[in-house]
Formats: sequence, structure tokens, C-alpha cells
Amino acid sequence: MPEGVSCFSDGQRVKLVKRISDEKWDILIIGGGAAGLAAAAEAAMAAEKSDRKPKIIVLEKRPGTGSKICASGNGRCNLSNAACPDVRRTLEFFARVGVLTRTDDEGRIYPYSEEAADVERALRMAAENRGVSIFGNTAVTGLEKGERGFTVTAETVRDGRKEISFLSAERVLMAAGGKSAPKFGTTGDGYVLSRKLGHRVLPLAPVLTAIEVREDVSSLAGVREKARAALYHDGRCVFSEDGEVQFTKDSLSGICIFNMSRFLKPEKGKRLEEGFGRYEIVLDFLPDFTERQAKDFLTEQGKRGLFGEAALNSIVKEKLAKAIAERTLSGEEPEVQLKAMRFVPKMPKGWETAQVTRGGVDLSEVDVDTMESKIVSGLYFAGEVLDYDGPCGGYNLNHAWITGIKAAKAMTGDLLCTEFSR
Ligand SMILES: Cc1cc2nc3c(=O)[nH]c(=O)nc-3n(C[C@H](O)[C@H](O)[C@H](O)COP(=O)(O)OP(=O)(O)OC[C@H]3O[C@@H](n4cnc5c(N)ncnc54)[C@H](O)[C@@H]3O)c2cc1C
Repeated sequence: MPEGVSCFSDGQRVKLVKRISDEKWDILIIGGGAAGLAAAAEAAMAAEKSDRKPKIIVLEKRPGTGSKICASGNGRCNLSNAACPDVRRTLEFFARVGVLTRTDDEGRIYPYSEEAADVERALRMAAENRGVSIFGNTAVTGLEKGERGFTVTAETVRDGRKEISFLSAERVLMAAGGKSAPKFGTTGDGYVLSRKLGHRVLPLAPVLTAIEVREDVSSLAGVREKARAALYHDGRCVFSEDGEVQFTKDSLSGICIFNMSRFLKPEKGKRLEEGFGRYEIVLDFLPDFTERQAKDFLTEQGKRGLFGEAALNSIVKEKLAKAIAERTLSGEEPEVQLKAMRFVPKMPKGWETAQVTRGGVDLSEVDVDTMESKIVSGLYFAGEVLDYDGPCGGYNLNHAWITGIKAAKAMTGDLLCTEFSR
């Protein structure tokens, strides 16, 4: 094992080694996020059963691994969902790495402690305790396939200086994540590296994010209102979900709006901020009543001496009642606004705040049983770098774990049947 030094300031044991280039790695994992750590843990556990110990390394651009895991689910890590087809496999995996889970009433699965950092730690320890080397502050900047495996170029930042290393590896797992929330290290490097090796990357867009609207909603900033949120494209409903809509100074937000953002696709040839004119967002604040019933109720309120904003106060929050009564957002009658408040989407909020990336490495070029590339043998993919995005509720992390586990099983299964590299 190469000489290691602890470099991670917030207590995580991420190791740097001086001469990582000296080794020939059996498995090299690009990215120590959800997919990369799951793969590292699974590969290490699989290898444990064998006498031969593969050399496994994880290269992570950020100082520590799994920063997005730690931020996920508001710090609680909604790690899967009871409705995911492969949830049993996910739960069996977490049982093996020692993470107890609990499921809420809506099927969302969390670690029992509801501490996201516990999930990250369990995965990292499952890998590190079995000999996997994890390097923080190390970004992969080049990846080439030759006759004798891969040459990987990595830049390690140490004491403010950059060190370039050239590593050789038999198998490489691309787990560098997407482009969303770049503060967690995900700046789209995986797409660049994959393209260079001949892979097609399908168009990328920020999803699971708030939607900016053309109307001036600034007076409603801070209001949270239960509603049925629907998205129409050329008058046809393409999405509908009940949930809590949160108004911000220029946008609609909340889980149902995040999920809606996956269905907003800009028109071809138009810029992002111009491409959504054929869409309309319609909020129904009274989904259990008809417009006729709403009108009758407001008429009854009038008989009780309640008019305008006062008539609406038992239905919606004060600020929204005021906007409806004063017709600041729409000139329609109050009952019409209650049943169908209309907004024109300007654009989804950008990469900085989006939780997930739509698009990515084309799945038709990957064997989805083994996650191995159909174009470059020995190259595997896992997680958000692939063309997958799921709704809120644990689907995206579940995809990261499952693809990481599949890739690890295929890489080690293959390795443990063949001669190891020396
Ligand atoms: C705030 C927030 C909350 C979320 N909450 C949830 C949730 O509760 N449930 C859910 O299912 N999903 C959630 N998601 C989405 C989920 O976290 C991601 O889909 C998931 O982490 C993707 O896993 P991944 O391993 O593909 O990528 P990541 O976890 O993003 O990991 C990729 C890693 O690769 C590293 N990397 C990038 N480029 C390089 C390079 N060149 N060299 C070396 N390393 C590199 C990055 O630093 C990063 O650590 C959330 C996302 C965000 C932003």
C-alpha cells in the first residue's frame, strides 16, 4: 500500500499518497460521490471473499467524498423509495454496509438516524476498511484507452500546488456525476471525458429545480400553498401533481414544481429563456371543489358580510387571498383564479440550484446489466453522468447506488476470474 497522509480538514479520512502513478490499478473510480462510493464499497466487499485482492482507487475532485450525499434530502438523505423497482437490492446493500433504514408514509426511505453524513461514512468505511485507496483533491483531467488498459491523468491540489499524475488502470468506472449543483464538484467533467472516448452525450438541462415565471409574483414571496400543479403544453396537460407550492420573488418552487421542471423542454433552436412560451402552469388551490362550488361558497361568504380578501381567508394564505381579491396576477373572477391560476414559465432555475441533470451519456451505448460501455471495453458508467433523471423522493440516489453496485459486481466478477494486473 502506498504511503498515505491525511489531508481532509473536516475530519474525514481521505488519503493522499505521494506516488499514485507507481501502481497499476485494477479498478479506478472517477468520482467519490453516491455511485462511486457504492461501487467502491461493493467491489471491496466482493473482493473480500477472494484470496486475490484487487487494487482499487477512487479519485475525488473535492477534498472529501460524498458531499452531495451529505446535502441530500435536506441533510437527511432520502436514499431510495419503496416504489423503486430495485428497492430490495438497495436495502440489501445498505444492510451489508451497516445502514439501518426507515420508510415514511409516502414511501421515502431514509437512514434510521436521518443523518445523511452517516450514509456517506458507512460507504466510505466499507471501502477504506477493505483496502480501497481514496484520494481527495484529485481531479481526473484525461482518460485514454490503450492496448494495455487505461491511462488516467489526474491533478492533485496539495498545499496550493497542483501535481499531475499519470495512472494506469485495467478498468475505469466513470462516476463523475452530472452538471447540477456544481458547488459539490459536479461540473460536467464526466461528459467531456466520455465524449472524448467516443460516447454520445444527450442534451443536458438542469431539472428538479424551481421555475421562474413571467408574472410578477414578488408580492407572494414566502407563501406556501397546497395546490394541484399542472403543466400544459399547447393546451395539453403533460404533468400534474398535488403538493405544496412555494412562491419566491420570481419563481414557483416546492417538490411538485421540482418534479414539473423535468417536463419543461425548450423549443428547438430557441435560447433557454425564450423557449417555454408554449407552456402554461396552472395551479388549482381547490382541487376538491368545482368552480361552481367555489363561486357558491364565495356568494355565501358575501351573505356573511365577508367580501374580497376576507372571503378567501379560510381557503388560501393572506398574501395570496389579497392578490386574488385585488386581481394583481390575473383579471379573472376569484373563483376562476382559485381553480386555475395561470403562469407562463420563463425558464427553470439554472445549474447552481438544480438538484439533477437531465440528459447525459446515451444509455443505448451501455450494457445496462453490467454498466460496461459497448464502445470502449473496460470502461463502466454509473450514476448521474448517464442519461437518467428521476423525480424527487429517492429515485436519483437509488439510480446511483444500483448502477454503482452493478458496475462493481461486473468489474470484480470479471477480475476475480482472471489474472490480476501486477
Ligand atoms: C441539494 C441536493 C439534494 C438532493 N437530495 C436528494 C435526495 O434526497 N434523494 C435523491 O434521490 N437524490 C437527491 N439529490 C440528487 C442526488 O444527490 C444525485 O442524483 C446523486 O448524488 C448522483 O450521484 P453520482 O454519484 O452520479 O454523482 P455525485 O454524487 O454528484 O458524485 C459525483 C462526484 O464526482 C466528483 N467529480 C466530478 N468530476 C470529477 C473529476 N474530474 N475527477 C474526480 N472527481 C470528480 C464530484 O466532486 C462528486 O463528488 C440531491 C441533489 C442535490 C444537489
